[in-house]
Amino acid sequence: MKYHHLGKTSLIVSELCFGTLTISPLQANLPAHEGKNILEYAFDQGINFFDTADLYGSYKFFKKIAISKKQKMVIASKSYAVDYDSMMKDIEIGLKAIQRDYFDIFKLHEQESLLTLKGHQGALDALIDAKKNGKIKAVGISTHSVSLVKSLLLRPEIEIIHPLFNYAGHGYLHGTVEEMEGYLHNLCLAGKGIYVMKPFGGGRLSFDFLKAFYYVKNYPYKHSIAVGMKTKEEVKVNVALMEGTFTDEMTPMLRLKEKKLFYKKELCAECYSCMDACSSKLIQVGPEGGIVIDHESCILCGYCLYRCPHLALRLL
Ligand code: SF4
Ligand code: SF4
Repeated sequence: MKYHHLGKTSLIVSELCFGTLTISPLQANLPAHEGKNILEYAFDQGINFFDTADLYGSYKFFKKIAISKKQKMVIASKSYAVDYDSMMKDIEIGLKAIQRDYFDIFKLHEQESLLTLKGHQGALDALIDAKKNGKIKAVGISTHSVSLVKSLLLRPEIEIIHPLFNYAGHGYLHGTVEEMEGYLHNLCLAGKGIYVMKPFGGGRLSFDFLKAFYYVKNYPYKHSIAVGMKTKEEVKVNVALMEGTFTDEMTPMLRLKEKKLFYKKELCAECYSCMDACSSKLIQVGPEGGIVIDHESCILCGYCLYRCPHLALRLL
C-alpha cells in the first residue's frame, strides 16, 4: 500500500480509504462488533484512512477498536450542520462516540453549490475554531458539484476536498467529467488534500469495474480513493486492486450484483422528507401521489432512506 501526504496538511494517508457508509445502518447495517472487526482487518491490510459521517450512524464501529490501532488511524467525518453551535455539538458528539480526542478531518457534508457553502458559513467558522482548539486537524468539504470544486481554489481555509469522481460522471452536478478532472488538477497543484469518492458510481459502474477503478487510480491529481466495503473479502480485493496484485479469480469476491433503490408505495405516508435528502433532486412527487425516483441517475448513496420515517425506501 502506498501512502501520500494529504495536500499541505501533516496527514499521511493510504491511497485506499475505507468508506463506512456501506457497513452503516443506511446500507448493510452490520452489528457493531462485525463492523469493528472489518475496520480492524482493513487497518491490518495497510489501510489507515477511514471516512465516516454524522449521518451514517457508523461511529459505533470505531468505539471498540483497539486504542493502539485507533490512534494510528486517520479518521475523517462530516456533518450537515449549518450553524456554528450545531457544528461544534456534532464534533463533540462524534468524538465521544468514537472515543478519541480529535478527528483528523471534519467536513461540511455534501455542499451543493457556492450558495450552499455561503449558507454554511457559521458551521465553517466552527470547523476553523475546532482546528485551533485541537478538536480536528484539518477542515474540508464533500461535494458532488463540479462548479463548487472549481471555486475552492480561492478558499484557503478549506484544506481537504472530498468530491464525487468516476469516469461516467454519475451523480455530478453543474459540470462535466473533463471539467472535474481539470479543477481537481488545479486544486491538487495548489496544495489541497484530495480524496475522491464513489469510483464505481455507487455500484452503477460495477458492470465494468476494472475500467471504473483504473480510471480513478490512474488519475494523478488525488491522494486517496474512498471505497465502500462491507466484507473482509471486499477489503482484500480492493487492496489487491490498489497494489496491482488483483487476479481474475478474485472477481466473485467483490459481489458485483448491482444494488437497487426500492420504493414501497403502500408504506409511503407522502411526507416528502426524502425529496430534501437528495441533493441531485432525483425524487419527485408522483403523478398519482407518492414519489417517483430517477433510477437512471441515482448513485445509490442511501441518504434518502435515512430520512424516510416509514421504511418505504430500501437499498437492496
Ligand atoms: S435518490 Fe436517494 S439514493 Fe439516489 S442519489 Fe438521491 S438520495 Fe441518493
Ligand atoms: S420519506 Fe418515505 S414516507 Fe415520506 S414521501 Fe419519502 S418515501 Fe414516502
